[in-house]
Amino acid sequence: MIKLAINNQGEVYTINNDNKIELLNNSIISKSINLSLIDKCLKPKSMIMVNKLTGDIIFETSELYPQHFYPLTILDYANAIKRGMKSNVDNLPILSISTKDYPYCDFGCRECLADPTRMWGIKNLDKCVLELDEYKKILKEIARYSKARGCDSVRLEMCGEGNPDMYKHRAEIIKFAKEECNMGVVYISTGSRMSEDIMEALAKYAYYIRISLPGISKEAYEYYSNQPGKEKFTYDDAMKLLKKLCALRKKYKRENELMIGVRTCIRKKNEGHYIELTEKLGKMGVNSFQMVKVLTDHIEDKKDIELSEKTQEDLIKISECYRDLGLQHIQTPKLLDKLYIDREFVVNKKPTKCFSSIVSPILYGNSLIVCIHWDKIRDKDNAYYGILTGKENELEELMQGKNAVKIRSQYPQKCHDCCALNDNLMLEVIRSNLALFNDVDIIDFMLVY
Ligand code: SF4
Ligand code: SF4
Repeated sequence: MIKLAINNQGEVYTINNDNKIELLNNSIISKSINLSLIDKCLKPKSMIMVNKLTGDIIFETSELYPQHFYPLTILDYANAIKRGMKSNVDNLPILSISTKDYPYCDFGCRECLADPTRMWGIKNLDKCVLELDEYKKILKEIARYSKARGCDSVRLEMCGEGNPDMYKHRAEIIKFAKEECNMGVVYISTGSRMSEDIMEALAKYAYYIRISLPGISKEAYEYYSNQPGKEKFTYDDAMKLLKKLCALRKKYKRENELMIGVRTCIRKKNEGHYIELTEKLGKMGVNSFQMVKVLTDHIEDKKDIELSEKTQEDLIKISECYRDLGLQHIQTPKLLDKLYIDREFVVNKKPTKCFSSIVSPILYGNSLIVCIHWDKIRDKDNAYYGILTGKENELEELMQGKNAVKIRSQYPQKCHDCCALNDNLMLEVIRSNLALFNDVDIIDFMLVY
């Protein structure tokens, strides 16, 4: 089968038997390749780094994490590093920013990942919930800063630290981010308090909606969401919400660019429901399903997160047949024999720098911080770039000034484990391969389909 490689300018190449790239000289095939944004991001099998002069493939990776980067791809990160190598790799654009902008939640999930930090945040941070005007100015400033550094569309992940549906200006800020800042909005929520206005705004302006399911059966949902109030949002309500979002996406003709996904943690009471849910999601038109290990190690009952034989079999089966079941992408853990995600740095294998603190910092209320690691959130002296007010040009000082240089000089050396381990390792591989060339302009990055 012919292998096609496409760069960020949309130029199409083939890979020949000598494993070199060649420009596709067939204009009919070239023109007929008209990938939708979802296909462009979800379908690649690998990314290659090529020498444009010789056609040689210098390295290839299949670690693409498309859902993690969507609506950007790993190509955007690789190209940003390439640009940075020409001047200053510390002066990269912010490519993605995650906003922790609403630290209150209507759920009381068992082993909530946000619990250890959000109460600390409310007590200790300057401001956790932003006024609308202030929020708008901050987004504008981030978009300006990144555009000046070659990134025209910053990925904006809105995920609260609680339930983002409950922020009263949510619909307006989603619209503003897209229309005024050209941002790629990613929205992560249980959806339990999603108003009609938010649904409309998401359907029209967002690029990725990911609904979190604490459990994937009626019983599991009720148990793991552990909602305190009498009025409970149920598994059936979540399914209805997903159907509604898919219908709205169709209404606005955005099936090719608005990805709708679901994420759940692998836990005992979910056992036996993974395949059934995959089928259900595929029929609805949902694009992706992530089944991940529980992230926290503060587990009440370790047996709850054991991967039974039945669960392992089901996850393997889903990885083999998710396309037949109607999904475009799934994520299951690579290692089925371990209970937690292991994010420890392998000794002596740390990247030279923490790239993610440059290209994907966190906006926690109005504080800009290096990452979402629990220790860092609670380390105002060493992990906070500063407070963002939205004043034009303030990001140059916050991201490039003395304090930023001092903060970043400690990372990743002082980190034992890393919340952005895969990103940092991948970006380091890209940097170290680019460093082999005096003239990085002879290098191009391509996604292989
Ligand atoms: S929905 Fe998220 S933030 Fe809220 S309690 Fe559950 S895990 Fe925590
Ligand atoms: S844990 Fe350390 S290396 Fe990892 S993203 Fe945070 S600051 Fe960077």
